[in-house]
Amino acid sequence: MEPMDKDAFKQLKETLLSGRKNGYDRLNGAELEAMEDYCTGYKAFLDAGKTERLCAAEVIRLAETAGYRPYSRRLALSAGDKVYVCNRGKAVMLACIGKKPLAEGVQIAAAHIDSPRLDLKPNPLYEDSELAYFKTHYYGGIRKYQWVTIPLALHGVAALKDGTRVTVRIGEDGGEPRLVITDLLPHLGAAQNKKPLAEAVPGETLNLLLGSRPIGGEEESGRVKLAVMKLLHDKYGIVEDDLTSAELEAVPAVKACDIGLDRSMIGAYGHDDRVCAYAALRALLDLEETPEKTAVCILADKEEIGSDGVTGMQSAAFDTFIEDLCAAQGTALRICYEKSFCLSADVTAAYDPNYPDVFEKRNESQLNYGIGLCKYTGARGKSGASDADAETVAYVRRLFDEAGVIWQISELGKVDAGGGGTVAMYMANRNITTLDAGVPVLSMHAPFETVSKLDCYETYKGMKAVFQAGN
Ligand code: MN
Ligand code: MN
Repeated sequence: MEPMDKDAFKQLKETLLSGRKNGYDRLNGAELEAMEDYCTGYKAFLDAGKTERLCAAEVIRLAETAGYRPYSRRLALSAGDKVYVCNRGKAVMLACIGKKPLAEGVQIAAAHIDSPRLDLKPNPLYEDSELAYFKTHYYGGIRKYQWVTIPLALHGVAALKDGTRVTVRIGEDGGEPRLVITDLLPHLGAAQNKKPLAEAVPGETLNLLLGSRPIGGEEESGRVKLAVMKLLHDKYGIVEDDLTSAELEAVPAVKACDIGLDRSMIGAYGHDDRVCAYAALRALLDLEETPEKTAVCILADKEEIGSDGVTGMQSAAFDTFIEDLCAAQGTALRICYEKSFCLSADVTAAYDPNYPDVFEKRNESQLNYGIGLCKYTGARGKSGASDADAETVAYVRRLFDEAGVIWQISELGKVDAGGGGTVAMYMANRNITTLDAGVPVLSMHAPFETVSKLDCYETYKGMKAVFQAGN
């Protein structure tokens, strides 16, 4: 056999072997500029919507600016019409009616707009040792030790018996006080230091420090608690019992910002999953032409606690919305679903060189390598995954390659290192062909997560490709 010359080897290698490249070796100057513009909008979106309610309101504001109108049942719809439905202020479903009938299916991007946080308990307010606190119950998968000694803001609503609603917002804006959860000093932390990380900060110690200044005479008791309640009453007109029908959420009091000397990344609270929610929304709002198939964007609540509940992805609210659209065309929902495609857009774990042990180098998502596809998620042998079929992955590969989307495919960490789930299975269970894809994140679920701008932008391009797909 003749020895192979260098050129022939190079050509064979390029033809046969996968040649993934860092996205920065593929994007041109104009695209890099568009990427920066896109990320500026994304950072503003993050700051405007730190809870599912605030995020839903911001989604609606952006959608209405782009010509979307509230949908009401039996509204006649024609190609190019843009409608949305807000589900109880916490989830939003949008559709741009396509040229083809719904009987030929819809193109869906599904993401979630809830993020891990600390919710207040129903009886939250108490005083201990002349300090006032709110008791919390964490929401979603958090590492509790990350939530102490950081500035926190409080957002949410108190629903009153008369049907009105009071919006609470504390510690978000400049000049406002912040809340905090204290931690032990190292001098007295010897015993705590010996505990496993997951046990070092028990859930019942995640109490928000609210105040220390008493009112009334020194012979009185509960003076600090009363002082805090009076401040809440002065500002919001609420009394302690109103806290029982409130949804108040403590979130990090930080704004989204660039990370790195090169500003190539974004640090923020709640990238999971507003980074994909914004990509899906922006892609829908930016469609220049009426899509072939109806483009649908669902931004759901409750993903971080299992997608259950009336505002979660398992809720019939989604089926009702699509069924209403189908009814307008005399199509059965099941016929629409079986021809539909859904990109379940949720974040994935980015490879972290600080913690190589939990990743499998050949199947990880890397920062700046674009939107990360996941054929399956799950844990312990793919349990809880919808596991897209090969044909579906091939379909998305083609879509993305034709649209010049930079993508990678990966798993979430090593086999048996852990795992996770998304809304993918709840879409697939509806008989909708579904694939997971999303932005790789560093320190996922931490109060401050990091993503790469390039991956954010490529995810937006990916969503657009899905909406623009002709068949
Ligand atoms: Mn997520
Ligand atoms: Mn998550």
